[in-house]
Amino acid sequence: MAEVKALCMKCRDGNNKPTMQTMNNPQVEEKEGKGGSKRYSAKGKCANCEGNVFKFLSKDDADKLR
Ligand SMILES: [Zn+2]
Repeated sequence: MAEVKALCMKCRDGNNKPTMQTMNNPQVEEKEGKGGSKRYSAKGKCANCEGNVFKFLSKDDADKLR
């Protein structure tokens, strides 16, 4: 399975900015967007803090995860 990285709002760096963390157990979601186009996103858990993380995906990225 491809690795997904997402910004974690809980894992902050020294400047108090969210950092990119590996997403565990990503679940791809597909939603109908405007004009009939599809929007893809992934939901999962931060590998570092177990918090919920979320990311928008391109169609290519979504296909790789399914
Ligand atoms: Zn985290």
